[in-house]
Amino acid sequence: MTMTRREFLSASAALAVAPALGADAWGAPLPREADIVVIGAGAAGIAAARRIKAANRRVIVVEATGLIGGRCLTDTATFGVPFDRGARWMHNADTSPMVKLARGAGLDVYPAPPGQKIRVGRRNARAGEIEYFLAALVRANRAIDDASRGKVDVSCASALPKDLGDWAGTAEFMLGANATGKDLKDISAIDRARALERNNAPIACRQGLGTLIAKLGEQIPLALSTPASRIAWSGRDVTVETPAGRIAARAAIITVSSNVLTAGNIKFTPDIPKRHLDAAAKLSLGSYDHIALQLPGNPLGLARDEIIIEQSNSTRTALLFADIGSSSMCSIDVAGSFGRDLAAQGEPAMVAFAVEWLTKLFGSDAVAAVKKSSATRWNAAPFALGAMSSAAPGSQPSRKTLTEPIGCMFLAGEATHETLWGTVDGAWESGERAAEAALRRIGALRDPEPAAAPARAPKQRRRVAE
Ligand SMILES: Cc1cc2nc3c(=O)[nH]c(=O)nc-3n(C[C@H](O)[C@H](O)[C@H](O)COP(=O)(O)OP(=O)(O)OC[C@H]3O[C@@H](n4cnc5c(N)ncnc54)[C@H](O)[C@@H]3O)c2cc1C
Repeated sequence: MTMTRREFLSASAALAVAPALGADAWGAPLPREADIVVIGAGAAGIAAARRIKAANRRVIVVEATGLIGGRCLTDTATFGVPFDRGARWMHNADTSPMVKLARGAGLDVYPAPPGQKIRVGRRNARAGEIEYFLAALVRANRAIDDASRGKVDVSCASALPKDLGDWAGTAEFMLGANATGKDLKDISAIDRARALERNNAPIACRQGLGTLIAKLGEQIPLALSTPASRIAWSGRDVTVETPAGRIAARAAIITVSSNVLTAGNIKFTPDIPKRHLDAAAKLSLGSYDHIALQLPGNPLGLARDEIIIEQSNSTRTALLFADIGSSSMCSIDVAGSFGRDLAAQGEPAMVAFAVEWLTKLFGSDAVAAVKKSSATRWNAAPFALGAMSSAAPGSQPSRKTLTEPIGCMFLAGEATHETLWGTVDGAWESGERAAEAALRRIGALRDPEPAAAPARAPKQRRRVAE
């Protein structure tokens, strides 16, 4: 897919929902040269650029849209409170680089309320029903883990216990679409089993995760609204073409999503190896969208930041994040093939579904007064083309393939992380890894000294019999 400059500008404008914090579009002409060029100012690109800057090397980030953040984008304009249009949750407070960085940047982080409420039609699930559901989830997870140890990789769906009854749809939604953007039939059991736990105690940033990435990019030289259109590369150097001019560099880090890479929006001279393109295709992005509704006066009667799912025997379901930050905004999240089909019908259809779904669970009075609405459509965002990667059955090794250098180019981004794929943490770590590989490539970072061989123990003299 190619885009004209005009299409590109209108696409960027559509995304420009909030000013990028501190991110000056490159006022001066683009630099002609840099040590390393980074393509994309999402989490991976900003992490890479910060690492390169910390090594005192010249870096420039070129970003196609008018904003920093990529799939982390906080919209403060629509509802007057931060609305994360992309990623919202960080995971594992003890190990997450993002939680640490958020605290370091002076932003407020807070845990999601423990546990989720489950609706069974108009009522809350009873204790026995919740126990049954949780047990079903544990059994399903265990079955996927067991399947991942088989000789041949299979889909998660084929491993799922067949007796989940009325909870089958909810279990499939929670483990598949809601966790990865894809239905379980499209997900590799090995990829899913290797993923580090991400449902444990999610943590949010009160100012928004997009705000965090924008803040972390504040001191980075970057050119917004500057899509890379062609990259000429070799083993020695690289030239990146943009509408604002060319940049010659000794290495490049490419952080665009797997779907953007395979869509061919960036031309490569020579072509990048088929091996990498095939790997990216096997790690295509799933679908995940937020449908945000403003419901003044808390008509759903829910507590701040409450998360609600429903008992469902199909995947035509959603997740509600209610009363976000005590605002009157709530978000109905749709994902997987159902979410993809719904989003393809456009924003009015998405809002209509959200209203119908809430009516089913809380009654029509509760949704009578929707004041404002807004829905994301990540599959249609030209510089993302989807939500997050997951591997097709048999394709888990593709993640490693993507980390293999291509001449002096290095791929980064969530899809390249073997255990934290699909997350902001994974994107961040992948950016740092690629930056270190690129710095090594240009001689700015030495390979770690091989561990010194253990000193040989002096040969024991054979005791000569006295
Ligand atoms: C709705 C949704 C909800 C999510 N929820 C969570 C969550 O709760 N927690 C979590 O951890 N993760 C979540 N994710 C996933 C998370 O957002 C991503 O894993 C992460 O942000 C990816 O970062 P990245 O840097 O790899 O890619 P991106 O953010 O996609 O960055 C790539 C950048 O490259 C730019 N680009 C593309 N083409 C070009 C070009 N030709 N020239 C220059 N620049 C270009 C793009 O504009 C973009 O800024 C969610 C994603 C979505 C969509």
